[in-house]
Amino acid sequence: MGKIAVCPGTFDPITYGHLDIILRGAKVFDEIYVCVLNNASKQPLFSVEERMDLIREVTKDIHNVKVDSFQGLLVDYAKKVNANAIIRGLRAVSDFEYEMQITSMNKVLYDELDTLFMMTKGKYSFLSSSIVKEVAKYNGDISDLVPEPVEKALKQKFNN
Ligand code: ADP
Repeated sequence: MGKIAVCPGTFDPITYGHLDIILRGAKVFDEIYVCVLNNASKQPLFSVEERMDLIREVTKDIHNVKVDSFQGLLVDYAKKVNANAIIRGLRAVSDFEYEMQITSMNKVLYDELDTLFMMTKGKYSFLSSSIVKEVAKYNGDISDLVPEPVEKALKQKFNN
């Protein structure tokens, strides 16, 4: 069986920062499941289906990427798809504490699962879905931040 990783997130919506991590992960693992976590405590702009459609569209040329969604514990999803690794991106030291908590808890819940962190490319270190939504809302230029289908979807949402 090949090396399988899960790349989990909210992806509301997917940005070039996420895509960079997915692309790099796809070179290291045989298969990557990009998984939209359906987190009830967040109020997303895009529905899970919309987020998955956008991810599918912008990753369609990466042959070993699968797009999925999940509600529940990430470790249960990892077991379901036989993944032995989680890939997460790190932008700044401020991401670190949160990631460390989640990673430690996942390790307690499922010891065979390891989390690998990839440092973002410098130019994406300030980039987040929230920032993109904020700029898009006021019709700012987001063409360097998200792929074209995402830009279009954001324009539609905000009626720009
Ligand atoms: P979550 O709510 O799980 O943090 P996000 O969609 O915000 O979901 O992020 C999913 C993953 O992508 C996380 O590991 C996050 O650190 C990473 N990520 C987000 N933006 C960037 C970026 N600009 N560069 C690198 N990684 C990023």
